[in-house]
Amino acid sequence: MKRRDDSAAAAGSRRGRFVGPLLAANVAVLGITVTLLTVASLRSVQRANADRVMDQRTAVARAAVSTETGRYRTLLQAVAAGAGTNARFDRTDFAAITAPLDTADLLGAISVAFVVATGPDDIGRAQATWRARGAEGLSLRAHAGAPEHYFSIFGRALHGGTPSSSGIDVAASSEATAALVEARRTGQPTVSDTYILLRDRGLPPRQQQLSFAFVAPVYTPGAQPVFQGWMVLGLRGQDFLGGVLSTASQNQLDGELLATNGDGRRVRVAAYSVRGSRDLIRQATFPVANRQWTLVTSADSAFLPGARSSLPTTVLLGGLALTLMLAVLVHVLANGRSKARWQVQVATAELRTAEAESRRQAGLLGAIMNSLGDGVGVVDGNGEFLLHNPAAKALLGVDDKVRGPGEWQSHYGLFLPDGRTPFPLEEMPLVRALQGESSDGVEMMVRNAERPDGILISVDGRPLDESAGQPGAVAVFHDITELRRYETDLSVFAGVVAHDLKAPLAVVRGHCETAADELAEADDSAEVAGAIRALERITLAADRMAAQIDTLLAYTTSKDAPLRRETVALGSLVDDVILGRSGPRRPGDAPPPDFYVGPLPDIYADPGMLRHVLDNLIGNALKYVPKGRSARVDVTAGQAGPGWCRIEIADRGIGIPDEDKPDIFESFHRARTAAGYAGTGLGLAICRRIVERHGGQIGVGDNPGGGTRFHFTMPLAAGVLEITPLPQPTLDSVS
Ligand code: ADP
Repeated sequence: MKRRDDSAAAAGSRRGRFVGPLLAANVAVLGITVTLLTVASLRSVQRANADRVMDQRTAVARAAVSTETGRYRTLLQAVAAGAGTNARFDRTDFAAITAPLDTADLLGAISVAFVVATGPDDIGRAQATWRARGAEGLSLRAHAGAPEHYFSIFGRALHGGTPSSSGIDVAASSEATAALVEARRTGQPTVSDTYILLRDRGLPPRQQQLSFAFVAPVYTPGAQPVFQGWMVLGLRGQDFLGGVLSTASQNQLDGELLATNGDGRRVRVAAYSVRGSRDLIRQATFPVANRQWTLVTSADSAFLPGARSSLPTTVLLGGLALTLMLAVLVHVLANGRSKARWQVQVATAELRTAEAESRRQAGLLGAIMNSLGDGVGVVDGNGEFLLHNPAAKALLGVDDKVRGPGEWQSHYGLFLPDGRTPFPLEEMPLVRALQGESSDGVEMMVRNAERPDGILISVDGRPLDESAGQPGAVAVFHDITELRRYETDLSVFAGVVAHDLKAPLAVVRGHCETAADELAEADDSAEVAGAIRALERITLAADRMAAQIDTLLAYTTSKDAPLRRETVALGSLVDDVILGRSGPRRPGDAPPPDFYVGPLPDIYADPGMLRHVLDNLIGNALKYVPKGRSARVDVTAGQAGPGWCRIEIADRGIGIPDEDKPDIFESFHRARTAAGYAGTGLGLAICRRIVERHGGQIGVGDNPGGGTRFHFTMPLAAGVLEITPLPQPTLDSVS
């Protein structure tokens, strides 16, 4: 049962160990998935935003570039139209017509010029003509090898640029020439392919930039429009694009302006770049005069407003942190829960085991109670019987249906051993035990309807042990009727022995003494003296025999005589024994013995029996000494556990060989060394019986420094809780 509970608890604990990490892992996976999905959807929203913003910005940039180029073209066309209104167009007209361009905010435009075409042979005439129209100091510098020359006659610098120097031959630039020719052919404004402006060709390459020119033909209106020349607007591509894009894109777009040249090649007019990496690219194509231009825009989505924010990163980090915290929390909670569940399982298993164990114990206790020969009765704190075993019922003869201690005497018929005096309530062992006082061997007579002849019982009472969990008392009792009868028989026998054996001896002794006295008075012859010595030996033999009878009686009664214990003053008893052993001294006796008696406590014993023990041990200590030496005897006592004392009798005598020590308490055993010393070998056997009947132990050992040291234990008298151990006596002082 227990093993099954344990293994179930262990399996539960194994399962419980995995629940926490499993739940935490699930939460972590779920949390990370949700976080990543949220971040991905945020990113896609941002991407869509970025695309939208990019489209908008590109459309704006394209419109700006397209509108600007259209505006340049329109303005130039207007200037060309203005110039055409006067067939004798001169410097003043040019200045007036081009004046609005100064304030038109034409980004990248550096100059506007009026250009005329001249055949190689007409250069001188043309120079004269235009000088006459205000181009003072005009000097036409023809580009060698050109079939036709295109001279810049008037010029105006725009935006702080320098005016193109009058008189230069545009034929030096094939791109510009092509635009002029095309404009004259179509009568429409044209834009040139990109080229380095003639005026910039002298600059260092790093300062040169691709430029282009807007060209508008100048016709004198009328039924037959007469071609006059061209208005040419020179623009630096980079300045143009930079100006337009920086305004249109608010510095968030890169731009690359590509012009498709006459030969179909795509040439980069200008590029404008802003910070960041380019992850968005758009392309838009639009017409510029007679050409198609392409604006390629690119941008870093990070810098497009509303297109990217730190929100996904924040969500990612926040989500991961939250997931981690949740996983840890779940782990801790799940662990705590599974641990608690496991503890409950273990506690339940332990409880079941304890329950089974206590049931087993109760069964065992019941079985013991039922099989006990002694009667056992247990009462609660109020004196109500909780338990009476079958032996108790059999002994007492009546049931235990009784209301409290007050009725015990009459119900059970309890009397003092005299059989007449009702047993006093306050003396009853259970009543004393309820007041916390233990008692042993209290004798009482039980006489009731079921026990009309009465039985004598011996009762021990004890307060109920604390482990019972409630106050109460327990009494154990047994029938001693037979024992008492036997003891009575024994004492009768002892009396008979004492009387019938010792009385004749006393008579023999008395007659011997009388005969010896009379013989001594009648004659002092040698024969009479011999008869008197014989009578004295008879007297001694009679004494020895009387002593033997005493010893045998003691040997018998020490086993079976009832213990009549009481508080005994050990010190007085020892003094008494020593006094009895110190008889009158005769000449030739060994020197008198030397006694040391330490402080001795009161003990709880049968005084007669205890006296016998002390007398025997002290007698041996006095007896077994080398001839001619005085005896030294020490009697001391010390603590031997709670409620017990250890009494020691040590001597400096002949000692006991080790091989005899285990046997000297056996009846009739005498050591080899005892030869020459009178004795029966029964004294120590009697001592052991008496000590053991008191619940004590007896033993022997060598006395350090020589001699023998006997010890035995006896219960201390009530109230003597502890005795102070004293230093051992100074046996060494005896030599
Ligand atoms: P008994 O003295 O009558 O022979 P005991 O039973 O008193 O019988 O002692 C048993 C034996 O133990 C003795 O014969 C003796 O050999 C030995 N013995 C007892 N006490 C002493 C002692 N104090 N010193 C030496 N030997 C002892």
